[in-house]
Amino acid sequence: MSYYKTPTRDLMFAIQHLSDLEDVMALPGNEEINSELIQSVIEEAGKVAEEVLDPLNKIGDRQGVRLENDRVLTAEGWKEAYQTFVDGGWNGLPFRPERGGQGLPWLIATAILEIWHSANMSFALCPLLTQAAVEAIELHGSDEQKKTYLPNLVQGTWTGTMNLTESHAGSDLAMIKTTAIPNDDHYRIQGQKIFITYGDHDLTENIIHLVLARMPDAPEGIKGISLFIVPKYLPDENGNWKARNDVETISLEHKLGIHASPTAVIGYGTGKYRDPKGAIGYLVGEANKGMQYMFTMMNLARLAVGVEANGVSERAYQHSVAYAKERLQGTNPEKGNGPVSIINHPDVKRMLMVQKSRIEGLRSVGLLLGASIDKSVKHPDPEIREFNQLMTEILTPIVKANMTDFGLENVSLALQVHGGMGFIEETGAAQFYRDQRITPIYEGTSGIQALDLVSRKTIRDQGKGVNKIIQHIRNDINRINDPKLQGLTDVMNDATRVVESSVEHILKLNLNSPNKPAAVCDAYLKLWGLIFCGWHMLKAANISLSKIHTGDRFYTNKITTAQFFFDHDMPKVQLYQNIIQNGADTLVNMDPEMFEIAS
Ligand SMILES: Cc1cc2nc3c(=O)[nH]c(=O)nc-3n(C[C@H](O)[C@H](O)[C@H](O)COP(=O)(O)OP(=O)(O)OC[C@H]3O[C@@H](n4cnc5c(N)ncnc54)[C@H](O)[C@@H]3O)c2cc1C
Repeated sequence: MSYYKTPTRDLMFAIQHLSDLEDVMALPGNEEINSELIQSVIEEAGKVAEEVLDPLNKIGDRQGVRLENDRVLTAEGWKEAYQTFVDGGWNGLPFRPERGGQGLPWLIATAILEIWHSANMSFALCPLLTQAAVEAIELHGSDEQKKTYLPNLVQGTWTGTMNLTESHAGSDLAMIKTTAIPNDDHYRIQGQKIFITYGDHDLTENIIHLVLARMPDAPEGIKGISLFIVPKYLPDENGNWKARNDVETISLEHKLGIHASPTAVIGYGTGKYRDPKGAIGYLVGEANKGMQYMFTMMNLARLAVGVEANGVSERAYQHSVAYAKERLQGTNPEKGNGPVSIINHPDVKRMLMVQKSRIEGLRSVGLLLGASIDKSVKHPDPEIREFNQLMTEILTPIVKANMTDFGLENVSLALQVHGGMGFIEETGAAQFYRDQRITPIYEGTSGIQALDLVSRKTIRDQGKGVNKIIQHIRNDINRINDPKLQGLTDVMNDATRVVESSVEHILKLNLNSPNKPAAVCDAYLKLWGLIFCGWHMLKAANISLSKIHTGDRFYTNKITTAQFFFDHDMPKVQLYQNIIQNGADTLVNMDPEMFEIAS
């Protein structure tokens, strides 16, 4: 049995050296931010995560949630833990002080997010969804809506949900059928949403649903979708939020993982609670702009899910290290004496290092995305704002898909380190594996992220934006001139040339057929993932070399980790290049009939 230990040192290293902290500290409103403050916030969050959330992770997995008498009940200890979380002000960390938040930059909020998800992913999903609802109302709601809903949502006395998915509309939200009929100052919402995370629970007195629906006569497709606020409870005649809206929790899903996070089927306007039926909803912003509003907040939600996956990877990695140190099996062929702990075997070291190197590399890339979001919003120089907006747009699908895809491989390796015991629930390795499985699916599947990168982020502007990012990375690599790192620098320079030629090839493929870039978009996204990770690994090694004289093992470990990543993951640059160059035709020319199952 191992316990979660907050990786404070690595988080601080990544924040201080790899994520443009100086720039973020210089942004207006961030005058109070400094390294000491950040470290103390991480340490305090770490205490809540280690002492309150981590011990509930297994209990939540075993007990799950249940729907009883129209109410979803969470697992033992969940309510008290949520109260501790809210009392600590953690729910409002990145939000404006005038709304009751702490006003910390996304760079720091991103680091803290990882900590919650490492300790207890099922729990952390609740504030993650509330955060998305806060963003939607903050960016697009009226002043009245901000005044009505944000204080409680920011504080965490109410929670928020995102209601997009319907049984026939998942990746393709153009097919949404839920309707919104105008009625006085509000709308009557009718329809059914599925897979709604924390769609109901017993943690707070109210739940604010953000719902996508269509008005009568709205244009077809995504241009006819609007966004509505639909509270579970409305004000009664005394102004207390106790009048039940026509929102019914129809059922809860039985899932592979995240058992303690309720995933609900929600009926709007079933007539169970109100006559005439129809849930009362309030339009956010303008009619028919719902999808546009969703897109503006998706960057944050996708970063959050990526970081969530890296958090679960970190926890599973810690679990596998603890097991590998204890388990005695096999001998050391060089020494030949008695059984040794399996951590001595090169292949077990490989499984641990694959996890460690990817977690650390992606951690700092995720933090860079947090910093880019901060700069894209707050930097006084419009050119720097614009560049950071570009970085945010391009990095978002890369972070979301790479953290979750690598995350799946990581938890699988963490389980593998346990051998047969990994497959047995008691060790806990299986839970991380099961929980992690959803991360490449929700908030846009990895396939949808790869399509976004290849089409909207590359082809749409004929590669101009991605080429700017490649140049930025190359300039940064050129500043590294320690001869000890020449080998790694050469690999990175070659890799940036591979990306450039791949961009060119993608544009050529598109002239031929738009299906061709789509056929190789997975390899294209993975190539970009290696570039960002390799760049940050190299930077980490460079900083560590300059500090190696201190004798601190942290820095020698960093250099070894970077070397491992360059030996074991970076060679895949050539693999993905080959797929991009040669892999499109077979898929595009393939007849779907070939998948017929022979009798
Ligand atoms: C536990 C859980 C929690 C969730 N929470 C929420 C929530 O809170 N709110 C909410 O609204 N939704 C939520 N979802 C829904 C989730 O976002 C969707 O499941 C996801 O977007 C995928 O949609 P789908 O399941 O309909 O799959 P589909 O869209 O049917 O996709 C099936 C497969 O086809 C691929 N595919 C689809 N279209 C294309 C294309 N054009 N090109 C290439 N490949 C394609 C996909 O990548 C995928 O592999 C949740 C789901 C789960 C399981």
